[in-house]
Amino acid sequence: MTLAPPAASPADALRRHWGFDDFRPLQQEAIEAALAGRDTLVVLPTGGGKSLCYQVPAACGAGAVLVVSPLIALMDDQVAAAQEAGLRAVALHSNLDDQARRSAHAQLAAGGADLVYVSPERLLAAGVPAGIAGRLALFAVDEAHCVSHWGHDFRPVYRRLLEVLARVPSVPRMALTATATAAVRDDVCSQLGLRTPVKLVGHPDRANLVYRAFPRHAQLEQVLGVIRRHPGEGGLVYAQTRREVERLAGGLASAGVACQPYHADLPAEHRRTVQDDFVNERLDVVAATIAFGMGIDRSDVRFVVHANAPRSIEHYQQESGRAGRDGLPAECVLLFSGADLATHRRIAANDAAAAPERTRALERQLREIGRYAVSPVCRHRLLSEHFGAAYPAQECGACDVCLGETRTLAAAQALETAQKILSAVGRTRERFGAGYVVNVLLGRRDERTARNGHEQLGVFGILGEIDERTIRFWIDQLIVQDLLAVATDAEYPTLRLTTAGRDLCRGAGEVRLGEVVRTPAVRRRRAVPPPAAGEADVVLFERLRMLRRAVAARLRVPPYVVFHDSVLRDVAAATPRTMAELAEVRGLGEKKLERYGDAVLRVVAGDDPDRVAAAF
Ligand code: ADP
Ligand code: ZN
Repeated sequence: MTLAPPAASPADALRRHWGFDDFRPLQQEAIEAALAGRDTLVVLPTGGGKSLCYQVPAACGAGAVLVVSPLIALMDDQVAAAQEAGLRAVALHSNLDDQARRSAHAQLAAGGADLVYVSPERLLAAGVPAGIAGRLALFAVDEAHCVSHWGHDFRPVYRRLLEVLARVPSVPRMALTATATAAVRDDVCSQLGLRTPVKLVGHPDRANLVYRAFPRHAQLEQVLGVIRRHPGEGGLVYAQTRREVERLAGGLASAGVACQPYHADLPAEHRRTVQDDFVNERLDVVAATIAFGMGIDRSDVRFVVHANAPRSIEHYQQESGRAGRDGLPAECVLLFSGADLATHRRIAANDAAAAPERTRALERQLREIGRYAVSPVCRHRLLSEHFGAAYPAQECGACDVCLGETRTLAAAQALETAQKILSAVGRTRERFGAGYVVNVLLGRRDERTARNGHEQLGVFGILGEIDERTIRFWIDQLIVQDLLAVATDAEYPTLRLTTAGRDLCRGAGEVRLGEVVRTPAVRRRRAVPPPAAGEADVVLFERLRMLRRAVAARLRVPPYVVFHDSVLRDVAAATPRTMAELAEVRGLGEKKLERYGDAVLRVVAGDDPDRVAAAF
């Protein structure tokens, strides 16, 4: 089978090169705007299909597409994936070895490249590569939020991209990003000099992700609980500090989980191995600080658990967003404690660059993530609304609140409960921390409660039938709702009533309280393929994964570049016998069929995956 000449239309290119029948939301609009010469801003969530927005124009034969990307580590994989789809792609960055650099330049000089990935540093140093300057059809800037101070990942070098863009004024520009608030979007448009751009902002919701947020009471056990729902699946455990990463990784290993730590203090060699093993599916679980993630492109990550609260909702969206990039179900769990926010403050205070406006921004971000973590409100809704989008559904069916794992108390009960807690703080004269207030509410007598005469208070033991965990959770909820405040001016943190808290004691104002009523059930079977699949499908799916792993190892590319899980799952369900039947499976373009079709059919027919892979 040989490839036909360039496809005429975007839809043809999509079918021929990627084997997809339909565009995802906004892809077609982005592609058509670019082909019509317009500047575009594309905001699509992770997994939304941003790369096709600039790859399809290259595949259409419209001319050359230049892509600026800050993720050098990812670039070679992106190029490999594009080549797998039959595109003439090359990468230019500082990590190329001599041979790769020479061959990239030769290909460019011969006019043999339609898709050129370049690092911003390289672009600023050397300008638009001569081999494509004359037929440049589109200038794409990936991870465009890096240009903005207001974003979560500012790169000073991005600020200078306009110098290069200005040298090719007639070329349309496309800026792409996954997470951007309105302020960041505006900043991107002006910093990159977009000219009356077509703004395509997708809905930020990731419907395939189940979001859960629970108060943390036993970090290791709770993390283990999540991992046990995903036997044999890839996942990330994020912790706040290096020490905590080490502790968690050790604990998980003792519990029998094959897991590696990753943080900035570990030797470069160890970090490289961990990253490599994870991407190539030789290692399933990594416990890491947020140093791990940029440039990790494994599409079948099935869970991301935060053992501590992240620094902002933007960070959370970014980090949790590494789950389920293949569009299949995945789970994101946040284990929250108010102490995490204090740690973030401490880390920020140690940062010499902390300017007053940064500190103010941090306080706002910490309140937002705290509110996300403890409010008994649909998590999909909270995230969508944070990024400025309405969430129309009443219930998402995919978060702890909507799944009934966290229950919202009826309004009257919430008010009464909150008043009891607030009055315990008031009656003990706002001089104690959460631990002591909990003791008073539970009616636990000790030497201090006796000495302070608090055992005589009407609030002593007023929540005696409730467990300690739940009362602590409620206190956290009252804090993020600004009904209680934590004062740190004393020797140890103490709870204080806010004005709104005092008002609520008199019955003025509103409060929402939730309690965890059950923990998610343990699933015995892998999430992929879906539980409805028969046993035979599961076995075939695993054999196809073996084929993919072996082929990827031989070709020295990550497994997802060869096939996505969704393709293997569909093949396992369809059990195709012929090339024509195999071509029906979504996600298999002509090039892939030609290259791997035979091998897949042989494995479906029962051949040994390793032996089949030996032909590559
Ligand atoms: P993003 O960069 O927005 O996170 P990607 O470009 O990596 O997303 O695409 C995510 C996944 O969606 C990839 O596996 C890609 O092959 C797939 N995909 C993209 N567009 C389509 C489409 N139109 N139909 C089906 N799958 C698609
Ligand atoms: Zn929900």
